[in-house]
This record gives sequence, C-alpha cells and structure tokens, in this order.
Amino acid sequence: MVRDVESALRDATAARAAGADLVEFRLDEFFSGEGQQDAQAPTGDTPEAKLILHLIAESPLPCIATCRPVGAEGGAYDGPDDARIALFERLGTAFGPGERAPRYLDVELSTLQRSRNIRQKIALAIEHPEQLRDVTTSLILSSHDFTGRPPDLDRRALAMRDEPTARVHKIAYRARSVRDNLELFDLIAQSERPMIALGMGEFGLMSRILAPKFGAFLTFASLRDSEATAPGQPTLAELLGTYRFRSIRQSTKVFGIVGYPVGHSMSPAVHNAGFDAISFDGVYVPIPVVGGSREHPAGGHESLKATLLELIEHPRLHLCGLSVTIPHKESLVRLALEQGWTIDDVSRRTGAANTLVVDHDSRGTIAGVRVANTDAPAILNALRTLTPDTRGARALVLGAGGVARAAAFALAQAGASVIIANRTPARAESLARDIRHALPGCDARAGDLLSLEASSVELVINGTPIGMSGSGTEGDSPLPTEFMASLPAHAIVFDTVYNPIETSMLKAARARGLRVLSGVTMFVLQAEAQFRLFTGRTPSAGLFERVVRERLAVRQP
Ligand code: NAP
Repeated sequence: MVRDVESALRDATAARAAGADLVEFRLDEFFSGEGQQDAQAPTGDTPEAKLILHLIAESPLPCIATCRPVGAEGGAYDGPDDARIALFERLGTAFGPGERAPRYLDVELSTLQRSRNIRQKIALAIEHPEQLRDVTTSLILSSHDFTGRPPDLDRRALAMRDEPTARVHKIAYRARSVRDNLELFDLIAQSERPMIALGMGEFGLMSRILAPKFGAFLTFASLRDSEATAPGQPTLAELLGTYRFRSIRQSTKVFGIVGYPVGHSMSPAVHNAGFDAISFDGVYVPIPVVGGSREHPAGGHESLKATLLELIEHPRLHLCGLSVTIPHKESLVRLALEQGWTIDDVSRRTGAANTLVVDHDSRGTIAGVRVANTDAPAILNALRTLTPDTRGARALVLGAGGVARAAAFALAQAGASVIIANRTPARAESLARDIRHALPGCDARAGDLLSLEASSVELVINGTPIGMSGSGTEGDSPLPTEFMASLPAHAIVFDTVYNPIETSMLKAARARGLRVLSGVTMFVLQAEAQFRLFTGRTPSAGLFERVVRERLAVRQP
C-alpha cells in the first residue's frame, strides 16, 4: 500500500529484504490526476507522473504499477479517467534519463472493454515501437469482485482470452467458502496464459498460500498485517516463514485445520515447523468452515460434509490430513459413520474426533480415510507426566463442551471417579449419561461445584474458557478461592486453557504448592500425535512446545 513516494520506496526496500520478488505500487493511493489539463505538458507528463516515474526508477524490485479507479474493483483513484490512461501511456513509454518502466501494468478488463481507443492506448503502452529500454512492460489484465463470485465468471475468463495484449490474467473475488478456492485452482489449470487466481477474505487464504502448487503466476502478500491491499492477504513473514511458500510445489501434500474461527490457531505454526524440521513435502493451512446457525443448526454438518468431501476428492489438491476443531468435532464422527470411514475407538466412544487422515496408494489414488481423536490421549499423557496412574482418583471436570468431554471420557476410561460440573447442569448430566452408556461400570456423574467437598477432590481439569485471553474472563478462575484452599496437598490442577500459559487458576494452585499442568502441554501432545498420524514421523523433540511458547509470548500484552 503506497501513501507517498518516499514511504513506498522504504516499504519496497523492506519487502526485498523480507524476501519479495516483485512489488506492487498502488498508485491510486496517491495519484490524483491533477495537472493533466496543462496544455504545456505532453500527455501524462505532469509533476505527479514525474514523481511516479521517479518511484519506479528507484524501486529496489521490479514492479507492478496499478492505478485502480474507485468503484466495484476496490481502487482509490477518483480523478478523470483520461489522466489515468495518460499515466499508463507515460509509464509505457518511459525512456528518458533516469526513467525506467514498470515490469507490469495492471489494468482492469472492464477498463479495456470500455472503448477501442482505451484498448489501443494500453496496447501502445505495452508494445510501443519506440520503447528504448531493457525492461519490457507486460500487461496484467485483471478482474475483481469484492462482493463474491461474479455470476459472469466464465464470460470474464473468455473475454480475457480474447485480449491479445494481456500476458497475465488475474481474477480475484471474495471467496464465499473454502470451496471457492477449488474453482480458482481449476481456472489456473484451464488458462493458456500465466494466471493469478485469488480468493479474497478469510475463506480465500488457501488460494494465496497454495498458488505455487497450482502453477499460479504469483501471489500477493502484505508487508505488515494492517497493510494488505486486499482482504485476507497474508503477510510476507507468514507466507515465507510459517507457510514455507518457497518450498510449495505441485507434489506438496496439503494438510490443514478445519473449524471456525481458525485465524488464531497455532496448529499451522507447529505443523509447518514440524514439516520443515524433517524436510517433509507438506504444507498446513487454515481451512475455515462455519458451524450451524440458530435458524439452521444442521447447517454446520452440511457445510463440513460438503467441504471435506470436495477437498478430499479434488484430483490435484492432494489433501492428506486435517485437524478438526470447534464446532465440528462431533460432526466429524457422524460424517465418518455416514461415509464408512475407519474410526478409532476413542472417537467412537466419545462421539468426537479431531483428526482426519487420507491414505493414498502409490499411484496417488485414495486408499482410505481414517478418523481419530488425539485430545483424550493427550489429556491422559499430560497427566502421566505427573502421576503414573489415575485409577481410582477422584476427578472434577469443569465444563461439558468438547474438551471437558474428552477429559471426562479419558479419565473415566482410565478408572478415575469423575464428577462433571457445568454452568448448564443438564449438559453435565447428559455427558455423564453418555460416559456411563459407553463405558459400563465406570463412575461418572454430574455435580454442583458449590456443594462439593473440595478436600476429597484429587484432580481438577478446567474445560471451560474461564481465564482465557479474549474471553472476557481473563484474570478469573473457574475455582472459587475457598475451594482451591481446601484441595488436598497431593491434588493436581490442570487448566486446558493455554492463552495465557499461566492462568489465574494455575497461579493460585502453584501458590498453594499444588502440582499443575497447563493447556500448552495438552495442545502440544495432541498436535504431536496428529503429526505422527499425518507423516508417520515423530516431530523433533521440544519443537512444538518451543513454537507454541514463542507464539504465545508474542501475543501477551
Ligand atoms: P466448548 O465446547 O464451547 O465448551 C465450553 C464449556 O465451557 C461449556 O460447557 C460451557 O458451558 C462452559 N462455559 C463457557 N463459558 C463459560 C463461563 N463464562 N462460565 C462457566 N462456564 C462456561 O469449548 P471447548 O472446545 O470445550 O473448549 C473449552 C476451552 O478449552 C477453550 O476455551 C480453550 O481455552 C481450551 N482448549 C484447550 C485445548 C488444548 O489443546 N489445550 C484445545 C481446545 C480447547 P455451557 O454448557 O453452559 O455452555
């Protein structure tokens, strides 16, 4: 994003240092078109145009010059169109002392279609017979829709094909769901010319990251979080660092996290770091899939089903594994049962799963799909770091949602005596019933925290968001002070919340000298188990924990 020439040059220098190959100057951010009527100045040779020529001549990277008009295609230029076209002509014929032309001019298809005259002028700017320079300017012919998939998408693609001057085609529209990315990948495959096909908004991120896998001409990234030139753009650091953009190629296997929201998930950071450490040809991306609404509660299952089946079956995506999180963990089990996929015991018993693995044979054909739950084993494995056996332990689980469910099932199966206390008591009762039904003979019941005898509780697991950053309860503890004070000295306090790492509940337990476990341990153990299922390899020791702690340290105020 350009505000003035000097800051544009500074940003371009920073972009080069951060690893960019090309920079886009959004001239519409500061070109006003004024002075064009000056009879003394040749076409386009205004003070503003000279400043822009200076910017391009001094650019530390080859550049795309874009001057998008205000309106549906998301530009900021609101001067006369003649002046904009004159600027393009001037850029296209730049050959004076100290002048250099842009490597690309980005012009909208809708602009070119406006008149034969404009088309001729743009063609001249691109292929001017008097061009006396070593840099050839090429045309990126573009089309944008910030509201959604344009209904006339096919017609636009055909119209682009009919424009002989265009060297690169660019189509960008707001993705309505992650499924739109697949159509964008297909557009690239069908294009005879180099193509940029991007989904804007949170649902389109996949099209930006996976661009090299599908042979896209380029992808865009912003220098800073707040400076994206289109919604949903990753930063350069995310693209090149987290997503290892330079190592993505046609053969790269795709993994991701499905849920909503997934924007702040740490799973992409840990799994991509894990792939990097073992030189695994894979990339792990956020895949946001919304849940059901109050009006249409079944919508969550329907969108999960439609999305997963399309992703799994796409012939060139090569989807190999998914982490699945809120609100789809229970739907994943239902889908696995509907599709006849293999389900592990834990998922079957708890009715919730967080992992999907797609197995392929040597020819790349799908050989099977497996669904697993790594949450429940992670909770038990975390506990095993402090106590070898939870058999017979009196455990209190706070909450009755996804994590509490995994914890209560895991503990009941391990032989603990489980009490579930939840804000909505009926959900605690229903969970206790489910556990007794799935594990006959186990001891699981609902209870009320206020009437419980704290001195008899040996293990507390918080499965509510109380204390979590951004939940509105940060600084709170789900355990009343008197309850904490009355726990026996050998009690273990386990908070599944991992942001902040040290919650108020854990601080209070530590202050009492009790043994504690943080949500980081659980997160790392479930992610490591998923990584083993995805790759057949064990992640480098301590890597996931280090990545999580580094990320959380950055997020702390
Ligand atoms: P969930 O399915 O939405 O369940 C949340 C549970 O917490 C529900 O039982 C809910 O009670 C209760 N609750 C929510 N807000 C409350 C409040 N203000 N006061 C009292 N009870 C409240 O969520 P989840 O997937 O189980 O996740 C719960 C927490 O676990 C997350 O916030 C996250 O911090 C943590 N987590 C940790 C990991 C890890 O790997 N460490 C992974 C996922 C989640 P009702 O039934 O009354 O609504």
